[in-house]
Amino acid sequence: MKLALAGNPNSGKTTLFNGLTGSNQYVGNWPGVTVEKKEGKLLTDKSITLTDLPGIYSLSPYTNEEIVARNYLINERPDVIINIVDATNLERNLYLTTQLREIGIPMVVALNMMDVVRKKGTFICLKSLEEAYGCPFVEISALKNEGFTDLLNKVYSVKGTQLQKRLVFDHHIEEHVNELENTLDVTESKRYYAVRLLENDMQLGINISDETKETAERVRKELEGIFDDDIESIFATQRYDYIGKSMCTCHKCGAKKSFDLDKILMNKYLALPIFGLVMFLVYYISVTTLGTIATDWVNDVLIGEWIIPFAQNMLTSIGTADWLIALITDGIIGGVGSVLSFLPQLALLFFLLSLLEDSGYMARIAFLLDKIFRKFGLSGKSFIPILIGTGCSVPGIMASRTIESESDRKMTVITTSFMPCSAKLPVIAMIAGAMFDGASWVAPSAYLLGIVAILVSGLILKKTKPFKSEEAPFIMELPAYHMPKASNVMKHTWERVRSFAVKAGTVIFVACVAIWLMSNFSFGLEMVDSNESMLADIGSVIAPVFKPLGFGTWEASVATLTGLAAKENIVGTLGVLYGSGEVAEDGIEIWNNLQNSFTPLSAYSFLMFNLLCAPCIGALGAIKREIGKGKIALFALTYQTMFAYIVTFVVYNVGKVLF
Ligand code: GDP
Ligand code: MG
Repeated sequence: MKLALAGNPNSGKTTLFNGLTGSNQYVGNWPGVTVEKKEGKLLTDKSITLTDLPGIYSLSPYTNEEIVARNYLINERPDVIINIVDATNLERNLYLTTQLREIGIPMVVALNMMDVVRKKGTFICLKSLEEAYGCPFVEISALKNEGFTDLLNKVYSVKGTQLQKRLVFDHHIEEHVNELENTLDVTESKRYYAVRLLENDMQLGINISDETKETAERVRKELEGIFDDDIESIFATQRYDYIGKSMCTCHKCGAKKSFDLDKILMNKYLALPIFGLVMFLVYYISVTTLGTIATDWVNDVLIGEWIIPFAQNMLTSIGTADWLIALITDGIIGGVGSVLSFLPQLALLFFLLSLLEDSGYMARIAFLLDKIFRKFGLSGKSFIPILIGTGCSVPGIMASRTIESESDRKMTVITTSFMPCSAKLPVIAMIAGAMFDGASWVAPSAYLLGIVAILVSGLILKKTKPFKSEEAPFIMELPAYHMPKASNVMKHTWERVRSFAVKAGTVIFVACVAIWLMSNFSFGLEMVDSNESMLADIGSVIAPVFKPLGFGTWEASVATLTGLAAKENIVGTLGVLYGSGEVAEDGIEIWNNLQNSFTPLSAYSFLMFNLLCAPCIGALGAIKREIGKGKIALFALTYQTMFAYIVTFVVYNVGKVLF
């Protein structure tokens, strides 16, 4: 007799396999692929061979493991399948069970990890599960060698029997699957082939007649019409619905189905609005309300009233030269301080994002967005780099490594930095505060701009050769929801805050000193007013380039330039340029200067250009590292800058006509 052991990765297959076969086993590779193959004879009955199939989540043909496992089941036709299920993760594991059933081989489901389930005090109703899937369910603990006899007895009892029929899908689908089954020229596993064909899976290794092909296509269209969804989602939803029902039909024995958050959060219509609302709240709390209060306090009180006067008095009392006092207070404390004062906002933002990540919500968002992102040549997994990119583009760009498809990955690498990173946040906050009275739409609009830029770039780049490719399916494990762990959340928040603070203390420190010196000295090395300084000269040369975008002042041009070293420099630079000469420099005073040299429209245009144009040197380095080719990195840089210029130009000029 031949037995096959099938189940999700980490469900305990190998543990069960070793428990049932002892050390008496053969390990090799499946022919043609480097996926481990394990075969052994049962300890209790040497006439029975057990094969440990690779761990899989489904029978789709997307990974080597899936192909190996399903080919084995279809071609070798074991007498009985033991479907091992991690009972602590019942719903997710049963997904594979619904698919394995379709093959039609007698099956026994082994509910593993029952020791854990019992410890938690959860009750699983075997009767309703057996009823739903038409096969025996046995509770085991592979780790503790419990339930093996029971399992083998059930295996003997189902051998040679027919798997009982169950209607898993909605009647429309069941009817159509039947119709397709009847056109198939196979004797076994008809349902498996029919469902796979409907799901557009052509790697089935059987002859498919034209009639079957036509039927499949017609039926698929019909179903997509009825359910207003794509076929893969229709089947996935139906399977999960069935699983949900299979677990809660039996109230009598006390089985309680846990409240399913996804029913609401991942609801077809509610999911995106809820996500939008969550994101709005996150930014509302961290950037607009609470965050602003904290940042204002740091800016006005801590730096403006305490640190600067203190430094001034101390430096004066020890007889420091005036220019040095100005350098230290205006240049260093003013510049670095104006960047650091955004730290409370950022810390709050990072904290809230970490909460969402750790609770399991973010992974679902990636899943949700996949459908949308795919239309734009990106993957749902692009969302993770983009999300991390809201902290810093460098780790964001590096996070693109989890994307399987090469072209999706490159596309994500190039577009991730369109997302406002934490360094761009101060610019956003400054413009919002100075020019728009702290309006709460400014920050979300910057993120919206980032997302739109990414999607539009996806559409544009998809048309170019290096980025064209086959669509890759979305494979990702959805973690269960749980209360975020304080230690995880704190760690993530701290890591991000720290890297921001370190950057402010190093790169920005140097940049602020350099900018102050260059804005207070002329090329002749004389101390002059800032509008005669060498920085003004340099800025005036580039300013005409930005004139069509509405912000052709030398200060804005210089800020844009210094932003290439690190985006935090933009605020730091303006802080130094507009603050120099003032005694008590604080945020509000820069704001006044900003209001004098920008209109709201030109300020927004300045913001847009700086958000979208080439990222900082660090991110450019990361792009080159991840893409591996200098040529494509250069292309990325050119593309981003041109894109920014064109978009800003259009928005500014349209805005000028409108307002
Ligand atoms: P596979 O990936 O399906 O081959 O899973 P493994 O056999 O490697 O098991 C994954 C993990 O689950 C290992 O750490 C096992 O020790 C653990 N494990 C397997 N069965 C049980 C069980 O019945 N109870 C508990 N508590 N842990 C188990
Ligand atoms: Mg294993």
